[in-house]
Amino acid sequence: MTETRNVVILGSGCAGLTAALYTARAGLQPLVLEGHEPGGQLSITTLVENFPGWPEGIQGPELIENMKKQAARFGATYETARLHAAEVGAHPMRLKTSAGEFSTRTLIIASGASARWLGLPSEQALIGHGVSSCATCDGFFFRDKEIAVVGGGDSAMEEAIFLTRFATKVTVLHRRDAFRASKIMLERAMAHPKIALRTNTVVDEVLGVEEKEVKGLRLRDVVNGTHDELKVSGMFLGIGHVPNAKMFAGQIDLDDEGYIKTTNNVFTTLNGAIVPGVYACGDVQDRRYRQAITAAGSGCMAALETEKYLEEHGH
Ligand code: NAP
Repeated sequence: MTETRNVVILGSGCAGLTAALYTARAGLQPLVLEGHEPGGQLSITTLVENFPGWPEGIQGPELIENMKKQAARFGATYETARLHAAEVGAHPMRLKTSAGEFSTRTLIIASGASARWLGLPSEQALIGHGVSSCATCDGFFFRDKEIAVVGGGDSAMEEAIFLTRFATKVTVLHRRDAFRASKIMLERAMAHPKIALRTNTVVDEVLGVEEKEVKGLRLRDVVNGTHDELKVSGMFLGIGHVPNAKMFAGQIDLDDEGYIKTTNNVFTTLNGAIVPGVYACGDVQDRRYRQAITAAGSGCMAALETEKYLEEHGH
């Protein structure tokens, strides 16, 4: 085990990197553990048009790279490591990771959320063979093909619009008749000549398991119960995310969907009592806003509380 750090930040998305910038500028030399999805959700998105300061928008990966460099300039360091176990009740806290053990006085949990899957056996069998949760990563493989996007929120609309660069046709499948997506995103998708929107429809099976490539989808109309098949070569999921907080179950309070419960914005609790020195920020604790700018804002709050805690404890 290395020396005890002042602060370890779990996650390198927008929240984690903002926390890194602030704690680095406070001279705390934060260590950022980059998990299995370094850069978080922004690193797999395209144009970000609603992060203030970029009048023409900025590509998500570029925004993340800039944040990373900005924090590094003030002394933040990065390690690729997956957390296996944490003892957050101990002082100092101990973190067991794929890159060894770390000891720290404070912990900022910014581990974000990962893509949600439908959970169908046929979907799971075809991940990487036509089933994907990342349009920007895999869209390229669907040049001149027909594909489907599942979901009715902004992610689904964004994925569908992006995928029109490659696909001949994109069908958005949504389980209800009302969309969750913002008006602007929905209107863009509806106006696109390559995009068709189909409501009240769920995927019962992804076809092509034997052939090891997606051949189509077996669909069900939830209103009249009828089935039909949609011939597509790919299925992209845009059905939201699941918080990466399971490893803290029993040590800090999680809500019924697995999000970290926070009080006063970023303080974590166990059975309602504050867990000293452990803060959570970004999508792992935010089921309501889930925006890059709100994640950055809560990363800043977590950093300021960390500084205060360390100061009060003589560090
Ligand atoms: P979301 O808003 O939670 O939408 C998820 C969608 O997937 C919903 O339409 C939901 O249906 C559907 N869904 C969930 N589970 C499903 C299942 N098992 N089977 C079928 N459909 C399912 O998630 P999101 O689109 O990822 O957006 C998350 C946040 O990021 C939002 O705040 C959004 O505004 C933001 N965002 C913004 C942009 C942008 O502005 N450019 C881009 C991407 C994301 P129901 O509606 O029936 O629940």
